[in-house]
Amino acid sequence: MSFLCKCLASNILKNNRTNISRRPFSTQPFPLVIYFQHFIVYSFSCCTFAPLNKPMRNVITVFLLFVCAGLFAQQHKTENVILVTFDGYRWQDLFTGADKNLVGEKKLVKDTAKLRGQYWAETPQERRTRLMPFFWGTIAKQGLLIGNRKLGSKMSLTNLYKFSFPGYNEIFTGHKDTRVNSNNYGDDLNKNIFDFLATQPGFEHKLAAIANWDAFPKIINSHRNGVPVFVNFKCASNGASCNGVAYDSWQTACPAGTNCAMVDTITYHFAKEYIHRNHPKFAFIGFDETDHYSHEGQYDSYLTTAHMMDAYMQDLWNMIQSDPEYKDKTTLIITCDHGRGHLGKQFWRHHGPLVRDAHQVWLAAIGPDTPAKGELSKGRHYHTNQIAATIAKLFGKEYKEDHASGKPIEVVYSGSSGQ
Ligand SMILES: [Zn+2]
Repeated sequence: MSFLCKCLASNILKNNRTNISRRPFSTQPFPLVIYFQHFIVYSFSCCTFAPLNKPMRNVITVFLLFVCAGLFAQQHKTENVILVTFDGYRWQDLFTGADKNLVGEKKLVKDTAKLRGQYWAETPQERRTRLMPFFWGTIAKQGLLIGNRKLGSKMSLTNLYKFSFPGYNEIFTGHKDTRVNSNNYGDDLNKNIFDFLATQPGFEHKLAAIANWDAFPKIINSHRNGVPVFVNFKCASNGASCNGVAYDSWQTACPAGTNCAMVDTITYHFAKEYIHRNHPKFAFIGFDETDHYSHEGQYDSYLTTAHMMDAYMQDLWNMIQSDPEYKDKTTLIITCDHGRGHLGKQFWRHHGPLVRDAHQVWLAAIGPDTPAKGELSKGRHYHTNQIAATIAKLFGKEYKEDHASGKPIEVVYSGSSGQ
């Protein structure tokens, strides 16, 4: 199906970097309340030549508490956000581990005994921990996960296409646009979270994207906003390198799986090196292989990739928490651009407008403002169009562009001090 094809022409972009850091100030809310209460009470008293009575003072106190709570709520600890996507990775595999309908299917798995030995266990809790130990050993204990529909936690796309370009468009813009209906779509005209942050003080040259699909420069519209987008060994004219090896020279060092995407391992290691060296305030890392191996009908490779992604997220989080510029002030958000089918033994391979339940997605978050709620149950039905506003909110900003967008997902930053 043409809408599944990810092969597109790429763009080469400029890249500039500087190091600019910003520190939020902190305040003590209750002394402020008392100070302002005294100030207003005595100002009123002076103006009216009559002291305010007790009920009036109480009204003013409550009002000031709300004002100060609102001010204090904006003071998030997050100064950096790293957004990661696992393309087309299903919530079913994230929350329940290896699929019992697929793990022993010889048409989808080369060595079923080996795969069972690696990832099978009797309970979903054991299976998912074997498959993704960082998600269930660290994120579930220190952060939160949305989208386990077996517990009533729901997250969905709002776009009806259920494939990649519209999915990433929705993530970055906070908006579904029915015109964005092809993976061959051109430069996305809708402004996105990169455009928004690029206009904010302190974010100049502090945005970057490293991703495994050559459509991302168009999805992000780096022609418009100038954000460096590293895809498939492109965007290397500025001399970007990893461990001393020029980025574009890697192209011949490792065979690419397709002519529009490279292997996720290279994407990850370049992203890690770039982030470590340049400390972007907002970085996006887009992985592809979960989607690639699903379409190929290789469930063993799909699980192996998910397990590898989990290890990379562990490694990334370790780097974040050992880097003074990132430690305890960086939020990591991981999500996907669409779900996949789950009926029978073949539908997991597919997604798109005609595939039932492929709109079902998930989100994981860990960081200084994210409460340790683990996997959510019941509660609100969240949507992918809320991610852009959530990222802005973590920076203490209200996401506004020239189109409607979803509201921020409050639970992601509800662990901020004072709440
Ligand atoms: Zn796909």
